[in-house]
Amino acid sequence: MGRAATATINLNAFRDNYRLAKSVAPHQQAVAIIKADGYGHGAIKLALALEPEADAFGVACIEEALELRHGGIKKPILLLEGFFTADELPIISDNQFWCAVHSLEQIETLAQANLNRPINIWLKMDSGMHRLGVMPNDYVMAYEKLTQLPQVHQIVLMSHFASADDLTSEITRKQIDCFNQTTASIDAPISIANSAATLGHEETRHEFQRPGIMLYGATPFEHSHPLADQLKAVMTLSSEIIAIRALDAGEGVGYSHRHVCQTPTKVGTVAMGYADGYPRHAKEGTPVIVNGQRTQIIGRVSMDMLTVDLTHIKDAKVGSRVELWGDNLPAAEVARYANTIPYTLFTGVTRRVHKKYVNE
Ligand SMILES: *Cc1c(COP(=O)(O)O)cnc(C)c1O
Repeated sequence: MGRAATATINLNAFRDNYRLAKSVAPHQQAVAIIKADGYGHGAIKLALALEPEADAFGVACIEEALELRHGGIKKPILLLEGFFTADELPIISDNQFWCAVHSLEQIETLAQANLNRPINIWLKMDSGMHRLGVMPNDYVMAYEKLTQLPQVHQIVLMSHFASADDLTSEITRKQIDCFNQTTASIDAPISIANSAATLGHEETRHEFQRPGIMLYGATPFEHSHPLADQLKAVMTLSSEIIAIRALDAGEGVGYSHRHVCQTPTKVGTVAMGYADGYPRHAKEGTPVIVNGQRTQIIGRVSMDMLTVDLTHIKDAKVGSRVELWGDNLPAAEVARYANTIPYTLFTGVTRRVHKKYVNE
């Protein structure tokens, strides 16, 4: 009933992708990163589907962590950016969240806190990304300080990569060397690998991996990769053809007539637009699947609709199914046509799109 724009979320695919992340380092743990509402897929649904087998979950902030706890999630939850204000610390302690600490100021704040139970701290190092983290020169001192605090239970050594998705980049090598040299004198569990590192940089696999985008079936790499190519799409974004017209050569389509037909063209209008999260910057020629056949976008994406070329599509009619990305069309491929990355496509899907969960 109603408008057909739908994001179908395949929870089996999500579990299979998590198992693939685990399989590369089966004796270590994998924190399933489900920040930003599970990269737009629905964090509680994903967490419930993975709860029996997940080692832990990772989110950006306490609001996201509390939402999971209130949704019934009992596994450990890591706050990837730690706390922002001191009043979060008692809540972190009471809920036993794992908490990143990325600055010396935060360690001072922690030392002042009055907590019922000590917290597991993930001490983040800035090994070269230059966004968050304690600088390498201060890192051992920060670690030793934390070991003295009654507010602290266990400590995990943490860092994040700037370019792990580029397997030829020197930056990752430099970050690994920096991290290893700085932590050489410390005996504690380590977590440095995001999806790209988990899949592509064996030497980064330590006690805890932190896979994110791979769990949603999108490869972090530009080129084919033996592990990443086994990932399965979790979200399929689909809709339907709602109108068809046959245009003569010379007729324009949509806003500004960005597309002008060079030959007689059958144009289909699809109930999907940028207000659903489909990228407005999708170029002419961006692939779509209609009735299982590949074709392309013509004309500009508008708020509620977009237009596709049906000239060579067999049996296309009003009501034909249109896949924008998913099982038959990788989101990473669509992202390239829109000059973006699958992360923004997934997190951009809006609440107007029906979410349908399969294989719960
Ligand atoms: C988001 C995030 C991840 C997951 O990154 P992917 O590229 O999606 O695998 C891992 N670690 C931290 C600190 C993050 O913020």
